Amino acid sequence: MKDIFASREFETHCGSRILAGFRAPYDATVLRRLAEAGLVVVGSTNMDEFAMGSSTENSAFQVTHNPWDPARIPGGSSGGSAAAVAARMVPAALGTDTGGSIRQPAALCGVVGIKPTYGRVSRYGLVAFASSLDQVGPIARSCADAALLLGVLAGHDPRDATSYPQPAPNFVAALTGEVSGLRIGLPRGFFDGAGADPETMAAAREALSTLQGLGAKTVPVELPNSAHGIATYYLICTAEASSNLSRYDGVKYGFRAPAAATLDEMYERTRSEGFGAEVKRRILLGTYVLSAGYYDAYYRKAQQVRTLIRADFARAFESCDLVAMPTTPGPAWRIGERVDDPLAMYLADVYTVTANLAGLPGLSVPCGFTRAGLPVGLQLIGRPLDEVTVLRAGDAYQRHTDFHERVPQGVAR
Ligand code: GLN
Repeated sequence: MKDIFASREFETHCGSRILAGFRAPYDATVLRRLAEAGLVVVGSTNMDEFAMGSSTENSAFQVTHNPWDPARIPGGSSGGSAAAVAARMVPAALGTDTGGSIRQPAALCGVVGIKPTYGRVSRYGLVAFASSLDQVGPIARSCADAALLLGVLAGHDPRDATSYPQPAPNFVAALTGEVSGLRIGLPRGFFDGAGADPETMAAAREALSTLQGLGAKTVPVELPNSAHGIATYYLICTAEASSNLSRYDGVKYGFRAPAAATLDEMYERTRSEGFGAEVKRRILLGTYVLSAGYYDAYYRKAQQVRTLIRADFARAFESCDLVAMPTTPGPAWRIGERVDDPLAMYLADVYTVTANLAGLPGLSVPCGFTRAGLPVGLQLIGRPLDEVTVLRAGDAYQRHTDFHERVPQGVAR
């Protein structure tokens, strides 16, 4: 499991020094469900601090390497979970996805990841980053395994007021292998984006031909407001994070800076020493966009654009059952390459943030490799609560392809 869940068995650090030594007094609902199903959690995986990042390099503790090329990042923020599944250390792992953190590392590590509909899986006991976007989901080798695990995780939780009251469907029973007649929407401009890696785009297009060969139909759709997805996402997630992270003050959890003379100094030193650079950057930005005088120009505006992005998807789903796009603009980059360029890092999320802003289920399924041998993912986004169709299409695709059966050099199948 990602190091982000309250657990009585393991310390919860969320990749941060500020939670060093913290052990929760209770278990997250998803951990309780795993235990009830007889599943064993063998440990917690590395992640970007407070799930902020796309490379797992923002962890306060260690660097996670991509099993396909140890000189490269595994993606993030659930990079440890994706790398552990890709290296076949575990059959499946838990991740969380606020703007792509399940789907993007899954794509870059050549495994399956699904972010369920917002509210499908309980967030009780999940350390909050951006509460209106956060969602828990499985990372696994196949869509069939992901469906099995999602069935264990999903369902109503009276302890999470945003969890859906309806019982979850039988995700495994929905894997019929049948996609004939399924309408897949291709958003205009998404498969040839400026700056996108041509090999990644070609692999995603090829995957759609495979699905067409199985009887699916493709239809053109428009998602015009997705162009503002990154700006909107980084305003909303930083605003929510600045509020959520105010609780780490040296009093209630984990780390407290020693040698402070006054209470204020203790708060200040604890937060200065406990948080890393990216977390501080986001607290500053989020506090700014929520401040009187800027709230209307930034935060309120972002919420309005969020509504437009959601409306775009609703319109697209009038003519299609799934929307397809690449999961990422390119394959895994080299460790260190983007650490000094936060904007370049943020742009890696261009295809994933809109599903969070709209609350929709999104799957990344392995769909090929670059010539350099780096994995590429196809993303399928579904209607609200329609994980079943997303997983059925991904599973049908995997029955006819073997990308998910390949393993990195030196890894035993
Ligand atoms: N990479 C995105 C970010 O840095 C998404 C992270 C996530 O989904 N937790 O915010």
